[in-house]
Amino acid sequence: MSSWYVLAALLIGNALLAQSTTSERLAHLLQDLLIVDTHVDTAGYVVDEGYQLAAEHHYYEADIPRLRRGHVGAIFFGIYVAQDYPQETWVTRTLELIDGLREEVRRNANDIEMASTAEDILRIHGDGKIAALLGLEGGQLISDSLPVLRDYYRLGIRYMTLTHFKTNDWADSSTDQAVHNGLTQYGREVIQEMNRLGMMVDISHVSDKTFYAAVEASRAPVIASHSSMRALCNIPRNMSDEMLKTLAHAGGVVFINFNTAYLDENAAAQFARLHAARDREIADMLAVSGSNPRRWELKRSIQQRYKAQLSAVDISAVLRHIDHAAKTIGADHVGIGSDFDGVSGMVPAGVEDVSKYPMLVKGPIDIGYSDADIRNIMGENLLRVMRANEAVAREMAGK
Ligand SMILES: [Zn+2]
Repeated sequence: MSSWYVLAALLIGNALLAQSTTSERLAHLLQDLLIVDTHVDTAGYVVDEGYQLAAEHHYYEADIPRLRRGHVGAIFFGIYVAQDYPQETWVTRTLELIDGLREEVRRNANDIEMASTAEDILRIHGDGKIAALLGLEGGQLISDSLPVLRDYYRLGIRYMTLTHFKTNDWADSSTDQAVHNGLTQYGREVIQEMNRLGMMVDISHVSDKTFYAAVEASRAPVIASHSSMRALCNIPRNMSDEMLKTLAHAGGVVFINFNTAYLDENAAAQFARLHAARDREIADMLAVSGSNPRRWELKRSIQQRYKAQLSAVDISAVLRHIDHAAKTIGADHVGIGSDFDGVSGMVPAGVEDVSKYPMLVKGPIDIGYSDADIRNIMGENLLRVMRANEAVAREMAGK
């Protein structure tokens, strides 16, 4: 045998060995890996469109069969009120969304169970079920009332983004006019009350000044439940490296958003030009559709038509954002918060829905992450930051 053949055989042998090591590591990790996604927006579809978690769908991005295939251990359902709801209906709409989601969980008790604490997540995961948690999107939904904030906590809300897309009465949004120079005094009181309750302060969506003010005001580590990296896609909705370092220094965690318009600058620029026309087309269609049962299907087809006009973005973009965050602040401060079902179908190829999380375990194996780092990114970091918030609440209660 020539030396060339020996060399070729060795190389092929090594490649096979590496391959089996990757798939073995993946299989081994998936046996008990806790996978947590901190932001999925399915609740509105459950309430408005009769979307059933028990059934597998060929549209939208989350249901129980696909969560099962994705080995998901815990999921935070985002509760938000669309901007076209008048202010006087915000609290009612929020309560109806919370109820709708909780009822849907109750109907599927063999597969999914509400969790209120980090320990609940571990217990439910140990029982072989999916833990469901709630996060509120937009501080305006408390209607400037701390009693309402406390009621939301009692109903299971475990984080709250201080703003949504619009600046509210006490905090500035990254996508609106800044009028409070960050946070008002009342905004600081809201944060104090969230700390006392053990509700995590979520800085996704807020302006830079609000971010720094929130980290300073919070006694517990804050999270960004669904944000990506400005170093790779420079838009105000993403986080700068300086913000990442401040977040990590305070013990916080950033959970990476999969919205293609937040991952890729070309897609972001194209989306900025197109989204108003898309939203108008959907609003016009819904206005003339009455109770036509096909109206949601029509909405999705309009969304897909606009999505097809954006640059193609795939799973490698998600991995680059995860890797950038981990290289900048350490794998102890990074997680995943996909924003599935909240991005009008603008999801990357290769991670189209919740069944694809194992590919986000394989990706970091391929680029050299340790099992410990992967466990932290996929779920352990959420447990740690949630426990830290629970500990602050106990401390403030004098327990
Ligand atoms: Zn959001």
